[in-house]
Amino acid sequence: MADSVSAIAKINLYLDVLGRRPDGYHEIATVFMPLTAPVDVITLTAGDPGELTVVCAHPGVPDGPGNLCWKAAAAFAREARLEPAWRVDIAKHIPVAAGLGGGSSDAAAVLLALHRRYPAAVPPGRLAALAAQLGADVPFFLRPEPALGRGIGEVLTPVACAGPLEVVLVNAGFPVPAAWAYAQRGRVAVPSAPALADLLAALAEGSLATVAPLTYNALEYAVLDKFPLVRLLRDALLEQGCRCAHVSGSGPTVYGLCPAGEGPAIAARVQALYGAAVWVCATVAAAGSAGAERE
Ligand code: ATP
Repeated sequence: MADSVSAIAKINLYLDVLGRRPDGYHEIATVFMPLTAPVDVITLTAGDPGELTVVCAHPGVPDGPGNLCWKAAAAFAREARLEPAWRVDIAKHIPVAAGLGGGSSDAAAVLLALHRRYPAAVPPGRLAALAAQLGADVPFFLRPEPALGRGIGEVLTPVACAGPLEVVLVNAGFPVPAAWAYAQRGRVAVPSAPALADLLAALAEGSLATVAPLTYNALEYAVLDKFPLVRLLRDALLEQGCRCAHVSGSGPTVYGLCPAGEGPAIAARVQALYGAAVWVCATVAAAGSAGAERE
């Protein structure tokens, strides 16, 4: 008995940091968009009684208890009062510590795979609570539809999108810890955010020309300041035809939004400019299609 679940990636079309809570977490307002690619594949199989095994061949991802998938399975077992006897294999395709939410998505995929296997063990409301305890981005990945995230990102409201957005992702190949990006707050000048309501209206209306200038990430200024390669990659996306380009989340992945049909050609040109040293992916931010992969 093996259950495989696709763990999708996200970008943040908007990320404003509103303040710091006494517990150290940051209050944010963010717009999450699910992507159709890249995708990790999480496979759940039976393990020895009492054993929880998590294996990932990627050198930047820990096996065992350090892995978010391990924490997710342990939390599910505790909540459901089950003895774990599971092995989780992670086929990692989402760049790690990259602002694309890969670890959070893997954790949500484990919760979904276990929920599918033990449907009555944990009520859906408790599944969302478990997800929020694992990480601020995990609840989004339980139901990855375009969403406004408030609180620390775990209070979600669906966002209406008129159509898919074509996206090009570029990753410079080094990790940026989210804690570092947040710690830079106040150390670099950050322009004020466009009105969130305007972006939400533009997404509902669906024109790239209206959406592009309203995209924003308060965390990107420190990343662009400290890592000039990321700035060059952002500029390359703009020069090659993207209508806007930003760091996603805490970076260092940059995304560009481009006119329909142009993503693969822009991706190929950026790849040709930088060669195999950078990871480039033409993809789509879409309402519905990413979630459907989990059915
Ligand atoms: P976010 O956008 O949610 O802030 P991220 O994309 O920046 O996340 P992740 O890829 O989730 O970052 O990885 C963050 C850290 O978590 C890495 O340093 C990694 O070692 C650790 N980690 C634990 N489990 C996983 C996992 N299953 N996949 C990726 N990283 C994991």
